[in-house]
Amino acid sequence: MANYPFELLKLVSYLRKLPGVGAKTAERFAFQLLEWDSQLLVQFGNLLSNIKNKIHFCETCGCLREEECLFCSSQRNSTQICVISSAKDVYSIEETKAFQGFYHVTHGLLSPLEGKTAEHLHLEKLKKRIQDHEIKEAILALDSTIEGDTTALYLKQELSKLGLSVTRLALGLPMGSTIHFVDGGTLARAFIGRQRF
Ligand SMILES: [Zn+2]
Repeated sequence: MANYPFELLKLVSYLRKLPGVGAKTAERFAFQLLEWDSQLLVQFGNLLSNIKNKIHFCETCGCLREEECLFCSSQRNSTQICVISSAKDVYSIEETKAFQGFYHVTHGLLSPLEGKTAEHLHLEKLKKRIQDHEIKEAILALDSTIEGDTTALYLKQELSKLGLSVTRLALGLPMGSTIHFVDGGTLARAFIGRQRF
């Protein structure tokens, strides 16, 4: 790396921790920040230093909350729980307005190579909620990747023992797609997940 001032190198090294930000982009961001007005930098710095005091992960479901958790409210349908791997996913699902039940965030997927084992999925907490609320269906809304498939299979095995129905989001043709341009894996999944029409 160039012979930048030490504090600038430190800033670059922090920025590089962000996903998708390589050395060149981090340097560009750092130089851009130096162009910012001092007051704006102070506001940004204050926001960063307080963010963990203002936003928390809900102790029950793992979604983000400020005060009360909006996703654990008694107004919600308590017979279904949707399992997601990131607190970010809840916002996409809420936007569809297709689901009104509870959520459980696993904060990651099974990935033995990255040291993500079953203990990381907070499964005991999930099982307890299923039993306490007498939940009838667990909907697995996990990525369609090797890690997502492995996690879904593991959760299916574990949760089925509790006697509830375990479902997974249908995987199939993207909206507006043409069969000719869909890849083989997606088409195969669409066949497996076909439903009565
Ligand atoms: Zn919650």
